[in-house]
Amino acid sequence: MDETDISFFKDGLRLDGRKADQLRPVKIEVGVLARADGSCYIEMGGNKVIAAVYGPREVHPRHLQEATRAIVRYRYNMASFSVEDRKRPGPDRRSQELSKVSREALEPVILTSFFPRSVIDVFVEVLQADAGTRTAGINAAAVALADAGIPMKSMISSCAAGKVADTIILDPMKEEDNFGQADLPIAMTPNGDITLLQMDGGLTPDEFQRAVEMAMKGARDIYELQRDALVKKYSQMVEQPGREEVHVCD
Ligand code: UDP
Repeated sequence: MDETDISFFKDGLRLDGRKADQLRPVKIEVGVLARADGSCYIEMGGNKVIAAVYGPREVHPRHLQEATRAIVRYRYNMASFSVEDRKRPGPDRRSQELSKVSREALEPVILTSFFPRSVIDVFVEVLQADAGTRTAGINAAAVALADAGIPMKSMISSCAAGKVADTIILDPMKEEDNFGQADLPIAMTPNGDITLLQMDGGLTPDEFQRAVEMAMKGARDIYELQRDALVKKYSQMVEQPGREEVHVCD
């Protein structure tokens, strides 16, 4: 099957009923793992992803230590049951690439110089995949870092745009990603500083411009949801009698 075999639009709407510039439903829950320093569960459409953050803590093996800053490790892992055709467990080239670009998307906002010789470990587990797992993972990891109390210059929010049937679309789902003409994931700060930009497929300069703008708009909307999820968790903690007071800044 290729893109010519698929009808991506019906009555102007996409296969799942969305408009071209519409995100899939997003659900974010903070602090879902008792033994992690910070954690987050996210659903973005059919993607279900969990992120756990540990640290800053001692680096093992020790030769990885940096004298002036913390190192950040990011492990993206896709569960074998997360996709239609069982995925062979363990690391592969794809998960190594996604781990690398996701770490690089987050590292610029983490104040690593506060924690010399330590490590901040980020684990991202994809439980169910439906295209956009790297963006969902980055969104969950950024919230989990904040939940762990790691000092950050800002939040990071991530979203993809794509192209199907010569139309630029927001947040492609699996059929659109697999059989579409282009996929362009980004990650950025709330100010619009981009920390990840990748592209598969082909776009004209004008389409590229529109796809980046659309993905940035999606990331801005996701930022609001990340913020709401953090505020919700910590305002509940403050309201619970007998617990240490937590101040949440705007
Ligand atoms: N996928 C799959 N098996 C794999 C890898 C990926 O079925 O071994 C699917 C999965 O739904 C994934 C999608 O293909 O979300 C797109 O993968 P891609 O490499 O583009 O990364 P993503 O869009 O998830 O960040």
